Amino acid sequence: MSPSNTLTSARYVSTRGADAEAPKRFCEILLEGLATDGGLYVPQSYPTLSPEDLERMRGMNYRDLAFTIMSLYIDDISSEDLRQIIDRTYTTQAFGSDDITPLVQLEPGLHLLKCSNGPTLAFKDVAMQFLGHLFEFVLAREGRELNILGATSGDTGSAAEYAMKSKQGIRVFMLSPYGKMSKFQAAQMYSLQDANIHNFAVEGVFDDCQDMVKAISNDLGFKSMYRIGAVNSINWGRILAQVVYYFKGYFAATQSNDEKVSFAVPSGNFGNVLAGHVARMMGLPIKQLIVATNENDVLDEFFKTGRYRPRQSAETRQTSSPSMDISKASNFERFLFDLAWRDPAVVRELMQKVDHEGGFDLSTCDQLWGRVPKFGFASGRSTHAARLEGIKAVASRYGIEIDPHTADGYNVGLTLREPSNQLILLETALPAKFADTIQEALGKQPSRPAALAGIEALPQRVAVIPASIERLKEAISRACAPLDRND
Ligand SMILES: *Cc1c(COP(=O)(O)O)cnc(C)c1O
Repeated sequence: MSPSNTLTSARYVSTRGADAEAPKRFCEILLEGLATDGGLYVPQSYPTLSPEDLERMRGMNYRDLAFTIMSLYIDDISSEDLRQIIDRTYTTQAFGSDDITPLVQLEPGLHLLKCSNGPTLAFKDVAMQFLGHLFEFVLAREGRELNILGATSGDTGSAAEYAMKSKQGIRVFMLSPYGKMSKFQAAQMYSLQDANIHNFAVEGVFDDCQDMVKAISNDLGFKSMYRIGAVNSINWGRILAQVVYYFKGYFAATQSNDEKVSFAVPSGNFGNVLAGHVARMMGLPIKQLIVATNENDVLDEFFKTGRYRPRQSAETRQTSSPSMDISKASNFERFLFDLAWRDPAVVRELMQKVDHEGGFDLSTCDQLWGRVPKFGFASGRSTHAARLEGIKAVASRYGIEIDPHTADGYNVGLTLREPSNQLILLETALPAKFADTIQEALGKQPSRPAALAGIEALPQRVAVIPASIERLKEAISRACAPLDRND
């Protein structure tokens, strides 16, 4: 909000040191994946909010909060244009209420922040819907097109498709494992009839889909000819959009800015909780950031022991909170950068250990490990049985159905919370997406928003293809052909 903040924080550098001499602007990094040195883009510094700033923000609605926060990180889109992009994104029509992420009190001191009322019933919509409007604006301004290529086993793919459908200048090519998603998830994606959405059901498993995306991303000639990009979880625009609901939740749960709250965050790629870390670095009075993992506990292991040890895909377990089934936490490097005094040399050294030795151990480095507590993280791990118990407990105590991921957050949050602070549980999906697990926990099918009744019976638009890169390339070039004609 103060001009001196805005000038430095709206420039971006890599966690591994690239662009340190000539930091980039927001729109320059928006459509990029990794930085050229393999690092992730981070703001050169975090803007900090004064008590007066926070007091002023307390009375704001979601859109005003979003504008106030995002303006601090974006200085190459005019205020009027950014305002319009935000106003188009955060509507009652898209998110079910003007609160966008309403806070529900479960009991005094314990709240649920409902982040999954967007079109695909997962919190990823909050960021992805924003990217859809933002990309359309930036591409039109630069006279460019973008073909988004991705692989999904569920939530990310549908959130991306619902955000990008019917947007000018954008096509989506989404690979999913044939027959491996829930009927509901498959129907959500495949029933989209928009011409710019291309669903490919790959005869294989999710890893095959991801390998195909990687192969094309490494084919630089093809990638630039067809202007291929991604909207994966390391996209800074997604993180930035997620920072907003931490503020929203904080103000809704508290009476004054002297209070501190904790957040419990179901975590996989560390994107959601990293947004909480950014909010905290900006001065939002957050006590604990409670990282909840499932049986895939890379992050819990780190915060408990100092060892960061990404898993092989063969070691990654399929669980009933599937959107947290990750082998490495892509956004973790952004936190490491802050932990390591924002010194890219230290980050490079640690990431080299990940590449060559399969991980690193900070517990042998007191200087670094000793700094972890000051960032407020705590962590825990949940299991299938605990998930079922969590879903049952919340249903019987509060009469509210939660999804398996949110149940992981509930379990870990309740174990680790400090009684002196309020706890906000982040809801990351609605139970309607995970009917089998809800059936197992509650003995009945989850309720489903009326708009999605009978979605499985709608006509589907999907091409089944073998796990062949050549076939995928053919399909992409066919889809792109008409727009490349010079007539
Ligand atoms: C993506 C996702 C998560 C994990 O979020 P990260 O940002 O990857 O940590 C948790 N729950 C649900 C339902 C998700 O879709």
